[in-house]
Amino acid sequence: AKVRGKNQYQFYTEDLMQAARRRMRLENGLRAALVQNDFDLVFQPIVDLKTGLVQGAEALLRLELDNGEAVSPDEFIPIAEQTGLISEISKWMCEKVFRTLSDWSRQGISVPDITINLSGRDIQGDFASVHLAALARQHGVNPDNVTLELTEGVLMDNQSAALETLSDLRKLGFGIAIDDFGSGFSSLAYMRMYPITTIKIDRSFLQNMDKDAADIIILQAIIDLSNRLGLRVICEGVETPEQATRLAEYGCSYGQGFYYHRPMHPTDFISLITAQNKN
Ligand code: C2E
Ligand code: CA
Ligand code: CA
Ligand code: CA
Repeated sequence: AKVRGKNQYQFYTEDLMQAARRRMRLENGLRAALVQNDFDLVFQPIVDLKTGLVQGAEALLRLELDNGEAVSPDEFIPIAEQTGLISEISKWMCEKVFRTLSDWSRQGISVPDITINLSGRDIQGDFASVHLAALARQHGVNPDNVTLELTEGVLMDNQSAALETLSDLRKLGFGIAIDDFGSGFSSLAYMRMYPITTIKIDRSFLQNMDKDAADIIILQAIIDLSNRLGLRVICEGVETPEQATRLAEYGCSYGQGFYYHRPMHPTDFISLITAQNKN
């Protein structure tokens, strides 16, 4: 950065210090949440676009700081990745989800399809294939009900390690989803390279649907291609009834977004499912 005199320089260091303090606060918050088992798990329903019925959900992590501030995972996941805390957090999340699923089946609730976000580090070591398999066994969870979401960026790095882990996971029965599909590069190659079962189309496509004709063509092509390859297609960020209708017209099977449901606590999610099954 250009240095324009002493005052500007001071502003700059103050910003840096503030950012560093924020980081430290979040890092401490993450460590505390791990020690105190104090993260929250929420579910955002995934809906059948034809019927509007809930078909599954994405598990999302929530962190609340000791002053009550709710921090978005968009802010704390990168810090968890940089500090290496992410491995512990992923373990926490998977264990929490599996425990919840086994509670549900013990209550006689038929378990909907659940997706869990994993980070790059999770599929580079043996965490995924060794730990996840053991956890599923321990909680009596059928991996067929669980899909693991990975972003394109993660699939781009360290491809041979990723391929080995994902193949192992797929053999165990877990589904594999490409998250934020279409927001990065080389997406089409990944559809073939890895044992993918689900495509989650990035919500930027819906945001541009009214403005950008090219985006609509690409969106339709992605849906068409995924359908032909026999992949499950979920479009993210559905916020209006118009978007839902158009997606269904394009042949997209599933949607997720604020128009249908916001992320909710597990008990609310189960009420929703049970009410739906009664009808
Ligand atoms: P993501 O995987 O793309 O998750 C979807 C995000 O979009 C969620 O934000 C969700 O609340 C938000 N969203 C859902 N519907 C709509 C909509 O209609 N409009 C808009 N504008 N947004 C919508 P959230 O929960 O804040 O998560 C942000 C990101 O944090 C996630 O993006 C994911 O990359 C990451 N994340 C969340 N939980 C975990 C986790 O357990 N592990 C890892 N590694 N990452 C996680
Ligand atoms: Ca996701
Ligand atoms: Ca996504
Ligand atoms: Ca995202």
